[in-house]
This record gives sequence, structure tokens and C-alpha cells, in this order.
Amino acid sequence: MSSSSELKKQLFFNSKHLHDDTADAEWKQVSSFVEGYKTFLSACKTERECVAHIKAEVQKKGFEEFDYNRKYNPGDKFYYVNRKKAMIIGTIGKQSLESGLNLLVSHIDSPRIDLKPKPLYEKEELAYFKTHYYGGIKKYQWTTIPLALHGKLIKRDGQEVDLMVGEDADDPIFCISDLLPHLASEQMKRPVSRGVLGEELNLVVGSLPFKTADQDEKPDASERVRLNVLKLLNERYGIVEQDFITAELCLVPAGKARDVGFDRSLICAYGQDDRVCAYTALCAHLELKSPTYTTLTVLADKEETGSDGNTGLKSAFLLHFIRDLAEQTGYDYRRALRNSCCLSADVNAAYDPAWPDVFEKNNSSLLNHGVVVTKYTGSGGKFGTADASAEFVYRVTSLFDEKKITWQPGMLGKVDIGGGGTVAKYMANLDMDVVDIGVPVLSMHAPYEITAKLDVFMLKNALLAFASREG
Ligand code: MN
Ligand code: MN
Repeated sequence: MSSSSELKKQLFFNSKHLHDDTADAEWKQVSSFVEGYKTFLSACKTERECVAHIKAEVQKKGFEEFDYNRKYNPGDKFYYVNRKKAMIIGTIGKQSLESGLNLLVSHIDSPRIDLKPKPLYEKEELAYFKTHYYGGIKKYQWTTIPLALHGKLIKRDGQEVDLMVGEDADDPIFCISDLLPHLASEQMKRPVSRGVLGEELNLVVGSLPFKTADQDEKPDASERVRLNVLKLLNERYGIVEQDFITAELCLVPAGKARDVGFDRSLICAYGQDDRVCAYTALCAHLELKSPTYTTLTVLADKEETGSDGNTGLKSAFLLHFIRDLAEQTGYDYRRALRNSCCLSADVNAAYDPAWPDVFEKNNSSLLNHGVVVTKYTGSGGKFGTADASAEFVYRVTSLFDEKKITWQPGMLGKVDIGGGGTVAKYMANLDMDVVDIGVPVLSMHAPYEITAKLDVFMLKNALLAFASREG
């Protein structure tokens, strides 16, 4: 007769803490890997910045811009940029395209606050920008924190202006004000979802009135603070108010990614959903030598607003790209798609011991327990999910076991509490197999999100193992 502890070991399925299996030398490797990740997070806070940065990185490694007229051979490496906001990185495999592709899909947009097309206004001698938030945020979290302005606009003469204010130590930052608790008794009675409303996310951008030497001008002339801000913008960037109509200007938390904890085991940074997957997919792809299957790393935009738009994965850009790639090598793109395998790489909610009520612990992912495999996302009766097949979940998890990838199952939360999705369904709708994998994140969609270093490193290894699969 076996003891109950032996039998438990044999029959139970429990994920394990990665640190128990991590030697000191490996921890050093993990620490050095995540320094690169932190640098990436600090430098790339919008999808445009990610594309520009990654394009430069892959060019350094010999990837060339995709050429429709070229016939590609095994080992050839290329990249394709969609409208400066989404990107595909590719390496041709030894097998024909009709035997399927590997796809590593993640997104490079993150929740943030955008400007309205005519943002500047003045009220009682303070100048503000009007905003519209991007993605699912808890609005109250975005007040009274230092915000940086990133993005671009195009002047009426066609000249492009790139802006980044608030990241250098000498830069000013911007801030959304909130009411002092002493006067907030009415505000505090609002439900949290209405604690700060969309139209209350107003950004303070100046307080000094324009001064004139003209003796005739009345000192109480209206909107002198607004005028002064525009004058400064005009002097610095040559822009006038109308130029904001084109602007893609984003407010993101200012500052760099930091370690968390006395043991420095965690990373706190803006935009880890989903740049943790974008960065690890990029690193895995760059380590890939000569894969069996053609591998595409897809970095998509607009996931946080539902994947609509020509840079999101509901658009046909990826399908058209795969079709172009197949046709120029003489293959049928439909067969290529049907035989393709995709990892939809996106973060999941880490079990938060401070908020246990919304999680079903047995099916939640834990920080430091490795790569999360999520068979289905969606909400309320599995609505809106691709739901990976038993066969494909087996294929991916058995490959992970074989390659010593520590993984854990993970669902977003309790049934009917809420829910969410990723791009997996849009990939599955293209007629390929797909499953969600990622890392657990604490405080997802907050200005600063937390991940565990060991999970981040393991995700890179998992994506590399998948991209180098042989069967
Ligand atoms: Mn995401
Ligand atoms: Mn998200």
C-alpha cells in the first residue's frame, strides 16, 4: 500500500514555486535577462515606440524589410511594419509553408489616456487638456500621478512632430488633479466606478497668463493662460491649435521600470500587459536559428480597445500578409493557415491574496509559478472565446514538459464575476489552432503593473521552445 503522501504526489496536480528549482547561477541569468526587459519597458510606452524600437533591433540582427518580389528560403529573416503601429517578424522554416506556421502573437498597445482632438482649454486661470481614456482602466488610479506625454502630430504643412515630455529628469510632467479628502464627502459617496468620471480626467498643463508689453491691453483679457501654453508650444514645436486634430498623443505613467521587494523578485512598470509577451517573443525569435516551421512573431495594436482598426487583429492585415508569403513561395495560404499553430501570448490575472473573493484559487495563476496556460477566456458561459481543443492543449503542454518549461493553468477569475479576452479568437477564426499563454500580473491595467522575474524568463523559454518545435 502506498502512503497517502506518495499517492498525492502521484495523483494531485499542483503548480510549484519556480524559485525552489532555480539555482543561484540561473537566478543571475534571470536577473540579467529582465534588465533588458526593464530597459525596453522604460523606452517603449506606445505601440509606435515599440515598433520603432523593435524594427531597429531586428535590423541590427540582419532582418530585412519584407519584399513581395523576393522568393524566400529556409533561414531567411524579414520584418513587415503595418502603419508604424503593428509589426510582423518572420523567419522561414525548413518545412514548406503548407505544413503550417508557428505564430507568436502579442499586443504592444496598453491602457492609457489619449487627448481629445481639441484638448486645450482654460478654466479660472488654469490650463488643461481634455482627454479620452484608451482601454479598460479604473479612472481614479490615473489621477495625481506623474504622467508623461508621448506621441506625434502632423502640422498643416505636413511636417511631423514627435513629442515626448516627462521622461527626462529635467522634464516637467503632467498631472490630473483630484479632490482633497476634506471636501470629498459627496464624491466619496459615489460608487468607485464613478469616483472619477471620464470628463473629470482633465490634465493640468499650465498656470501662467500671457504677459504683453502692450500698455493698452487689459490685464484681465480672457484665456491668457491658454494663450501662453499655445505660445510655448508654438515656440518649441511650431504648432498651432488646429494641429492637434491629427494628434496621437498619449498620457502614460512617467518614469522607469523598477524592482519590487527586498528580494528584488518582482518588476513594477507601466504597460507590462502585454509588452511582457511582446518582449519575450522578440527575444525568443532572435534566438531562433533555423526553425523547422516558418515562424511569425506578430505584434498587434488595438487589443485594448477590441482589436478593431487596420492595425488590430480583427483586420485582414495578418491574413493578407500570410497570403502574400504563401503565394510568392508557390503555396496555398489556406492549407498554411489550417496547419498553423499559434500561441496567443497575453497576460493573465495573478491570484491576489489581498482580494481573494473574486478568484477561484484552484484555477488562478500564481506569481512565480511559471507560464500560465489558459484553455479558454471569455465570460458568462464561455462567451467570446476560442476555447483551445484538448488535442492542442496537450500538444503545447507536453512540449513544455519535454523542454522543462514550468507552466500552470490559469483562469481570469470566478465564473460570472467578470471576464475578458485576448486575440486568440481572431487567430482561431483564421482556421488555426491557438491557445493562450502568458504570465500572471498583479494590478493588471493599473498605471503600474507587477510581474515576477522568474515568470518573465520562463515565458521567453516557453516561446522559444514552441517556435523551435520539430513536430
Ligand atoms: Mn493583454
Ligand atoms: Mn489588457
